[in-house]
Amino acid sequence: LSQAHSSANPPPATFSFEFFVPKTSQGVQNLYDRMDRMYDLNPIFIDITWNAGGRSSSLTNEMVYTAQSTLGLETCMHLTCTNMKVELIDEALHKAFESGCQNILALRGDPPLDGSESTGDFKYAKDLIEYIRRKYGDHFNIGVAAYPEGHPEEDSEAKTLEYLKEKCDVGADFIITQMFYDVDNFISWCSKIRKIGVNIPIIPGIMPISTYAAFVRRAKWSQIAIPPHFLEVLEPIKDDDYLVREKGTELVSQMCTKLLQSGFVNHLHFYTMNLERATIMILETLNIIEPVKAHENTGGDELPWRKSL
Ligand code: FAD
Repeated sequence: LSQAHSSANPPPATFSFEFFVPKTSQGVQNLYDRMDRMYDLNPIFIDITWNAGGRSSSLTNEMVYTAQSTLGLETCMHLTCTNMKVELIDEALHKAFESGCQNILALRGDPPLDGSESTGDFKYAKDLIEYIRRKYGDHFNIGVAAYPEGHPEEDSEAKTLEYLKEKCDVGADFIITQMFYDVDNFISWCSKIRKIGVNIPIIPGIMPISTYAAFVRRAKWSQIAIPPHFLEVLEPIKDDDYLVREKGTELVSQMCTKLLQSGFVNHLHFYTMNLERATIMILETLNIIEPVKAHENTGGDELPWRKSL
């Protein structure tokens, strides 16, 4: 009975962190230190991105091994299939399996930048999910990406929903969404996907705000809307990074509160951008974690999987 929670009294929210693969060995070491510190915050899992086409794939595998087996963090490995031959996919999955990793975020990946056709053996994320299920049965929990404001390559909302349903029908276990700031749209999207029979857990992707320029650039790159009240607060203070982070934390925390009250989610997934302070500030504001002493080292100028972010 003590485990039972009514909707008026939901269980405490859980959270997770995304990290991307750094470009230098020093960056990797810094990230391991950061992951080790963030372990103490008690995330449910962390995930490590995959560079489309398999660039630095062995580093993703190595980091998954270290996070899962050495640091003891429940780890999810991203895996994209654009420009990936089946042998490379097999190698990546085998290494993940050997590391004790049981979670894969199965993705297509962005198309080649030069506009050429992918030379990979799988066309869509759905094909990759089917393959993983065929080869590994239920060993892996498989996550998929979803886009509450649509995917840049597809204009039809109905088709975007249909393709998400297809990914679920072939074996996805959970959804992680693209970053967004428009909570009302997210909530209505959740209703729509539930209506078409997508019943797996929905994990909202939360991008903390650390500088005004990065906030606007990432929203533009991801083709997501910035609600007017975000701009009203942040635009006048855009040159003061400290204030932007303070006010940005308030705005994103309000957004998270609304998400957690929506009844659709009980877990927040943070795009950390390999930094910790902005994410920690949100978790503290939400009272999900105890206040943490600020870490001096919040640097990290490495490039994420999407260079233009
Ligand atoms: P899919 O679901 O395959 O969709 C791709 C496109 O094809 C969409 O436009 C869709 O509408 C369309 N489509 C799907 N199925 C069909 C079908 N049956 N017929 C016709 N059209 C169809 N990228 C990386 O390179 N590395 C990462 O680590 C990474 N992590 C990410 C994590 C999250 C949470 C998210 C949201 C995205 C991530 N991405 C990453 C980006 C992702 O790879 C791109 O957004 C990519 O363009 C789409 O991937 P997908 O898995 O959603 O593809």
